[in-house]
Amino acid sequence: SISRNNAIQAVIDGTYVETMNYIDNPVTEFYGCNVFTDEVMKARLPKNTYKSVKSTIETGSTLDLNAADVVATAMKDWALEKGATHYTHVFYPLTGSSAEKHDSFLSPDGEGKCITEFAGKLLVQGEPDASSFPNGGIRDTFEARGYTAWDITSPAYILESDNGTTLCIPTCFVSWTGEALDKKTPVLRSMQAVDKAAQKVLTLLGNDNVTKVTSFAGPEQEYFLVDTNFFFARPDLISADRTVFGAAPVKGQEFDDHYFGAVPARVLNFMMDFEQECFKLAIPVKTRHNEVAPGQFEIAPVFETANLATDHQQLTVTIIKAVAKKHGMTALFHEKPFAGLNGSGKHVNWSLGNSTQGNLLDPGTNPHDNTQFLIFCAAVISSVQKNQGLLRAVIASASNDHRLGANEAPPAILSVYLGAQLADVFAQIQKSGSATTSIQGGLMNLGVDSMPELPRDAGDRNRTSPFAFTGNRFEFRAVGSMQSIAGPLVALNTMMADALTTMGASLEAKINGGMEIEAAVLEVVKDVMDESGQVVFNGNGYSDEWQVEAAKRGLKNLKTSAEALPELTTPENIAMFERQGVLSKIELESRQNIYQEQYCLKINVEANLTERMAETQILPACIRYQTELAENIASLSAAGVEGDKSALQAVTGQIAALTSSVAALKEVRSKHIEDALEECKYFSSTLLPAMQEVRSAADALEVSVADDLWPLPNYTEMLFIK
Ligand code: ADP
Ligand code: MG
Repeated sequence: SISRNNAIQAVIDGTYVETMNYIDNPVTEFYGCNVFTDEVMKARLPKNTYKSVKSTIETGSTLDLNAADVVATAMKDWALEKGATHYTHVFYPLTGSSAEKHDSFLSPDGEGKCITEFAGKLLVQGEPDASSFPNGGIRDTFEARGYTAWDITSPAYILESDNGTTLCIPTCFVSWTGEALDKKTPVLRSMQAVDKAAQKVLTLLGNDNVTKVTSFAGPEQEYFLVDTNFFFARPDLISADRTVFGAAPVKGQEFDDHYFGAVPARVLNFMMDFEQECFKLAIPVKTRHNEVAPGQFEIAPVFETANLATDHQQLTVTIIKAVAKKHGMTALFHEKPFAGLNGSGKHVNWSLGNSTQGNLLDPGTNPHDNTQFLIFCAAVISSVQKNQGLLRAVIASASNDHRLGANEAPPAILSVYLGAQLADVFAQIQKSGSATTSIQGGLMNLGVDSMPELPRDAGDRNRTSPFAFTGNRFEFRAVGSMQSIAGPLVALNTMMADALTTMGASLEAKINGGMEIEAAVLEVVKDVMDESGQVVFNGNGYSDEWQVEAAKRGLKNLKTSAEALPELTTPENIAMFERQGVLSKIELESRQNIYQEQYCLKINVEANLTERMAETQILPACIRYQTELAENIASLSAAGVEGDKSALQAVTGQIAALTSSVAALKEVRSKHIEDALEECKYFSSTLLPAMQEVRSAADALEVSVADDLWPLPNYTEMLFIK
């Protein structure tokens, strides 16, 4: 087809974008240049104002309006020097993307000229019309007021583009009645909850110098890159971020030659350019590599506080998309853009720590002796056991459902992987009430005399667990590539806060009863293992045996979003979120409503695409081919030669299968269901399989119809031609 040929020609003609020369522009010099950093504040704010800003960031005290006025003016001057014309409160509505409304710094001076202005109250609070953002029933549209409130803990920054430069101020987004309408507010509340509970436990452990405990996150982001020419020729990629049609390529990922392979030159050119944008914003991107599927890549930053990591993660996605476009490529964040190939996830590495006790999930070399680690790690075990449903719910989406349990990503069963050393330590405690040894990794001999012996970690890595201990943190590996990491972090912090509260209370009772701290910790840890030890699993999470074994252990196995989302509002979860002051019943219900609605909307778009592409692109191409074959036979017969009808017969049969599957899909789609949850269930049990039938019929035709007639770029082209 013309569009495919044009796309391929454009790839051939493609040129590289010039990236920054790091010799003339050392990264250490421009790193963070577009951020209103501590250093900038120190240089530009009067001492007193600077002090009150710092104390607000560090202790959470409120900033008075006079100070806000001074900060706003300094911020405006800085932004104007950087070429900004507008400012915006950036907020994070429940759609999962970020939202912004730009206002200029200009004010008419009444004499035909203008001045630039930015008042403290505009910095601190904004009022966008909230009526067009999902609120899940929190309020009706006639009560549309929504407020954005400056999050002083996430620094303001400048977003430069060829089309304008804007000062961006990260904000919370709440309703007139104070309910969180966004993803940021609960992250901040959950950080506060876990700080309080963790500090209490640290104090009980006998520390007299306990400081604020912060939760940290390091998200690894997987994504695909497709040449934009192909992207534009695929209506499904444009509207659904995934292919709803496409036969398997002749060569896929079976050679394992893409993973960690040399990054293709054009992609490396893009990565360099993208990293440079991140560095200007002090987003500490660190790791880049090819992923398993052809055309799939990964980027990972250095971990940061959960709040900043969440904002940066969101910004990273925005930057990847924008820079890829500049390089003639489109970045796909869908969890399963190409059937039959590995999908994309976002591994969220998570830990807790402070400046006095360090990383609370650091086992040291002898975890059996490390009371602080034992109690915090036990709290993780306990909280995952108690909140399997919640953890499954916060990663539920129409797109992530394609990936979970598909033998490349963790199953829908939530379990904890500890590794050999820790599993052994906790088993000792469960068995005998204490642990006396920690298995050591020792040294590894490479069998080459010139190579030194290498130290071996005490525990191996596990790639099949949804929630794995990885040395000094846990890695939540089931999170989808498209999702904000806010939801998962809110769940982790809140459930951890709750487990620490309960365990802290029992620790306190034991200590007050005269028990030694260490003995009390061991008892609490043993109780956790007796109650929750079944959630620990160190085996192969992809195996069929695990499905059976997990059922025996009574672990939940919520395979689809339709099953998982109601977990958000179980009485236990509502009680926990309210107890920890993170989300109210109304806020949880609104989230469930929104996520259910989004699930159905998404699948509905895909169903629409399936129907329309089948009828207007695929079927016409097939009929043209059928006609060609028929005309060929007719001409042969007119010339007195007997033609072979088998290809015509085969294609005619395949066309009939496609036509009837489309008719069946229409029939399924004609049913209207009022109740949101029932609709989710119907979509997952009936609509998705009907779409799959159409796809199978079309994919079979793709490999029998003449290639030059096929209207859509195929998998080989999209994945391999760059
Ligand atoms: P992997 O081998 O799992 O692919 P990567 O290096 O790609 O590892 O990513 C690991 C991520 O974990 C990085 O974002 C890293 O900064 C983060 N990380 C490391 N230590 C911690 C920690 N203590 N808490 C949270 N995240 C961490
Ligand atoms: Mg990882």
